[in-house]
Amino acid sequence: MMYIVEWGVQEAIVVDVMVTRTQKIFVPVRSRAVCKIVVADNKIKVVAIDASLKVVHESAVQFDKDLPEFRTESGVHIHDDQLTITSPTIMWVKALDLLLTRMKESGFNFSAVVALSGAGQQHGSIFWKDGSEKVLDNLQSDCPLQVQLKNCFSIPDSPIWMDSSTTEQCQNLEMMMGGPQQLTDITGSRAYERFTGNQIAKIFQTRPADYERTERISLVSSFGASLFRGAYVPIDISDGSGMNLMDIRTHQWCQQALDACAPNLDKKLGHLVPSYHNAGSIASYFVDRYGFSPECNVITFTGDNPASMAGMRLQKGDVAVSLGTSDTLFLWLEMPQPALEGHIFANPVDASAYMALLCFKNGSLTRERIRNLMADGSWDVFSHCLETTYPGNDGNIGIFFDVQEITPSAVGIHRWNANGESVSSFTPGAEIRAVIEGQFLAKRLHAENLGYHIGSDSRVLATGGASCNKSILQVLSDIFNAPVYILDTTNSACLGSAYRAKHVSKGCEGGDKVAFSEIVKSAPAYQLAASPRLEAHKIYTKMLERYKELELQIV
Ligand code: ADP
Repeated sequence: MMYIVEWGVQEAIVVDVMVTRTQKIFVPVRSRAVCKIVVADNKIKVVAIDASLKVVHESAVQFDKDLPEFRTESGVHIHDDQLTITSPTIMWVKALDLLLTRMKESGFNFSAVVALSGAGQQHGSIFWKDGSEKVLDNLQSDCPLQVQLKNCFSIPDSPIWMDSSTTEQCQNLEMMMGGPQQLTDITGSRAYERFTGNQIAKIFQTRPADYERTERISLVSSFGASLFRGAYVPIDISDGSGMNLMDIRTHQWCQQALDACAPNLDKKLGHLVPSYHNAGSIASYFVDRYGFSPECNVITFTGDNPASMAGMRLQKGDVAVSLGTSDTLFLWLEMPQPALEGHIFANPVDASAYMALLCFKNGSLTRERIRNLMADGSWDVFSHCLETTYPGNDGNIGIFFDVQEITPSAVGIHRWNANGESVSSFTPGAEIRAVIEGQFLAKRLHAENLGYHIGSDSRVLATGGASCNKSILQVLSDIFNAPVYILDTTNSACLGSAYRAKHVSKGCEGGDKVAFSEIVKSAPAYQLAASPRLEAHKIYTKMLERYKELELQIV
């Protein structure tokens, strides 16, 4: 995916390039189920914003439709083992030129772009063959990128986030690090098949000669930046956190993890930089071919999840809750407590902070099932039931995991009445309240397990299908004791990178550094959907303790 941000002729346009995965950008399942997920609408996309952060241009190239010669489905190739999933690296290269050509044909004024940045699907890796940096450094503007770079990749098919073929490498990494918790304490996550360290380990083990002749390994994000820069751009600390290789506190590679994956890896990965690093000016290829200003800066690209966090304008104390098919939490953390569930990343807009991701598989589909059973299939009836029952649900409490849950690892439907007795059913009203309270208590519990604290300025930013339901959001607000705002996340990863690029151009480092929150101040205000009620919150604080014990019983 690619974005461009534009803000005034004298000021800047920022381009954000991003290879997207729109269906589920984040799948934290450490299992083969990952590869079953269908990614629709895979594309490279660009968004340009002006000085007031208004989107002034959008375009996209769909891999399957616009580049049929690569024969991808949703931008990927699923191999015979059904576990190995890759994308042709050169397809991404060709897509970038096609996208820029379309923009040029539409009359887009590239000369007004002062800075560009981008986001890439997390975890994917690009293996540059020996001698490729010279080719990058000498790009000729009269010849398309894909012709010049066609022999530059020692592994022509990039492993991507959907790949789940590295279970053995994950087990080995956890063992070499002293166990899953030890690996998590350092890198923020236990070993996951899609995480890049494990993917690199597999390449080294199965294709040692190709690994040997690799001079550089990029993530999809740093790969995009490298194309624009005409030189290798370092991996940023936020996307680097999705590799099982980086110490999330020191922002350095963890030598022990590198050694456990493959030899000489530090040289092939290069050094790490903050996500708001200015990588330098754009390559002359883009100046001559498309009319970019030679002064246009390339700002470090990052992963799509960190970029989304920036696009959602998350601040200290905030939590973003996506209420979709799965429910996902994005947390801003000051002092992380890495746990075996969820992921902790370096924060993309403030290197002294962290971000965390938690995924709950039993989200909207469970809510829908209860709606169908207890509310005649109507959200209005469902909402009415919530409004006519009381916080605390008269002591009834439930855990509804229709399918194997990720956070926590458990399955099954469990109900307890006010006497603590396990019961097989509730009244319709109690059942509806129990599912919503149970889901949101779990979110607060697991957020706090990762080190999240609700502060007096904390906000809950709600997004996804269920965020239109104010009765549901009221429960969320009461449980988190924070106002809930509704968030439009259309283009959030794109916009996040555009904002980041503006942040760097306005001076994000040094003595007079500008806070990211200053940069995004003029973005459209969020709509307040629910305010916390003190009495209800007191009830939920007690209920949380009870929920915690009950959850432990079923795990
Ligand atoms: P996805 O994760 O697939 O992108 P969405 O974020 O679009 O999903 O959310 C879709 C879900 O939103 C549906 O499964 C539906 O259950 C839920 N939804 C839609 N309208 C409402 C509503 N009024 N109240 C609660 N949930 C709703």
